[in-house]
Amino acid sequence: MKNYLDNTTRILYLSELCRGLWITLQYFFRRKVTLNYPFEKGALSSRFRGEHVLRRYESGEERCIACKLCEAVCPAQAITIEAEPRYDGSRRTTRYDIDMTKCIFCGFCQEACPVDAIVEGPNFEYATETHEELLYNKEKLLKNGDRWEIEIQANIATESFYR
Ligand code: SF4
Ligand code: SF4
Repeated sequence: MKNYLDNTTRILYLSELCRGLWITLQYFFRRKVTLNYPFEKGALSSRFRGEHVLRRYESGEERCIACKLCEAVCPAQAITIEAEPRYDGSRRTTRYDIDMTKCIFCGFCQEACPVDAIVEGPNFEYATETHEELLYNKEKLLKNGDRWEIEIQANIATESFYR
């Protein structure tokens, strides 16, 4: 009987509708949590693992010393490296490919790198229309490095601060 009365009262006085409108009104005046992407973007963690880059030293020399640790540690076997000694005796890659469609963004490659050459940068906006565009070569990775170097340096500094 009580349940019957409760239901009738709810229907007659539209109490649930009023409660819904009250909640809407409350949220109307609260700070908005949605972002107008892509014009607005949320903050990213300094540990965010996005698109890969190959970094250079300030002199412009590439950091990678072709030790192949990243290739060995990659669980997805997404990295392919070929290397040979240069005229000055230093070892450098002649080929550095990453198949981004195989990559699982585990971050092992950047953890293994002794010279912070391969890094997963902050870029997450690199969707493509074809598979081929996600087969990155050394030129593309170095270009990414040049593009994101400032942000990556800031992230590495933040990480070192908290260690
Ligand atoms: S993030 Fe992981 S899966 Fe991707 S290339 Fe690096 S080691 Fe391989
Ligand atoms: S990116 Fe780093 S780990 Fe990979 S081959 Fe170059 S120096 Fe070695």
